[in-house]
Amino acid sequence: MPISKSDKNLSPADQGEINVQESLSHRDQRHIWHPLTQHKISKEMLAIVKARGSILYDENGKEYIDGIASWYTCMYGHCNPDITGKVAAQMQQLDQVVFSGFTHEPAVKLSEALIPLLPANQEKLFFSDNGSTATEIGVKMALQYHHNLGNDRKVMLAFEDGFHGDTFGAMSVSGLSVYNGPFEEHFIEVVRIPVPTGKNNEQVLRKLESLLKEHKIAGFIYEPLVQGAAAMKMHDAEGLNEILKLCKRHEVICVADEVMTGFGKTGKNFASEYLSVQPDVMCLSKALTAGLLPMAITSCSQKVYDGFYSDEIAKGLFHGHTYSANPLACTAALAGIELLTSKAIQQDIQRVIASHRNFKNKIKDHPKVKNIRTLGVIIAFELDVKMERYGDMRNRLYKYFMDSGVFLRPLGNTIYILAPFTISASELEKIYASIEAVLVEF
Ligand SMILES: *Cc1c(COP(=O)(O)O)cnc(C)c1O
Repeated sequence: MPISKSDKNLSPADQGEINVQESLSHRDQRHIWHPLTQHKISKEMLAIVKARGSILYDENGKEYIDGIASWYTCMYGHCNPDITGKVAAQMQQLDQVVFSGFTHEPAVKLSEALIPLLPANQEKLFFSDNGSTATEIGVKMALQYHHNLGNDRKVMLAFEDGFHGDTFGAMSVSGLSVYNGPFEEHFIEVVRIPVPTGKNNEQVLRKLESLLKEHKIAGFIYEPLVQGAAAMKMHDAEGLNEILKLCKRHEVICVADEVMTGFGKTGKNFASEYLSVQPDVMCLSKALTAGLLPMAITSCSQKVYDGFYSDEIAKGLFHGHTYSANPLACTAALAGIELLTSKAIQQDIQRVIASHRNFKNKIKDHPKVKNIRTLGVIIAFELDVKMERYGDMRNRLYKYFMDSGVFLRPLGNTIYILAPFTISASELEKIYASIEAVLVEF
């Protein structure tokens, strides 16, 4: 689009070249404030103009394989016609309606499809818009459950290095709070335990026992088995089971944050399926809507729901968002679930798992590969090279991958892949090749 002469921020030099098409990356810089960005350091954003399957296309026509499924959302590929077609049809029927006092078919159908997929004790679904609100609501459910029962419990329990989002409750329970300094005084009270590694399980349990004595703990929020933002850190299922058992014995509401792990990525529909103890509450977002629209769900057991069910209005959960259960987002989620449970996608998941296993065997003994781990379609390892400047290393890695047409987003020196289930064998090979090139170049 040509820039108009009235554009107030054009420099005189720009105005002289008014007919030259200005790049989106350049126009972006005038008025847009990006998330998780220090703009003085990061100036240029890459403009993406199209996405299909596993490929992103930038405004200059360069292609990138989306090796992290755009933050673990579009697991069935970008612009998947099975999803976009259904949402386009829904758009002609009912676009948006208030969800207090009203209901609609996409939400009802979604509830009927999702509940059978969740752990057996999950009975009710509460809608919101994103992962942070899903966990925020999970925390509120745990706190208000005890409040409604007349229990004096105001403390949350969480893992060290957990990540649960960027709203206040979610920030409070997140252990990775290096950037949360300005807000810390306003946080809710949280106590923490380390993740169980298999070696420290007894110690963790003993620490939990003493915390349960010292603090009035209402709920425990945890990312089951994989902590995404903590660089795909994986932990011990048996250890987590023991923690959950102890929490349940003390009436602590267990809130599984499956925003990242949900919908097939761990090789099962939900990571909680690897555990024998079921959560009381589950937080879902990201791949819930197959990468098409923002939505989240916080599910809960009948027991939690009953804690709010009362003749007293104030015992209800007075939380709501304008776009709660938007019909288009519900339609996308329903289409996503149909794909997830299809034979084709289940075969894709097994294919990616087998492929990662081969790649792991191929590079696991390389001297620069440390702590390589996989669970489902997630594969991660630490690049073991001398790090003079940690931040710089991450940025050099990122640039190296992008230059070779692969979108991976290393976390520190951790390199991981979490690509769409539908990624082709040759696209996967290209990602592996770029990682092997990194092992030579860095
Ligand atoms: C991404 C993420 C969130 C936050 O979700 P947003 O949609 O980014 O607010 C919360 N918990 C986990 C485990 C996540 O991966």
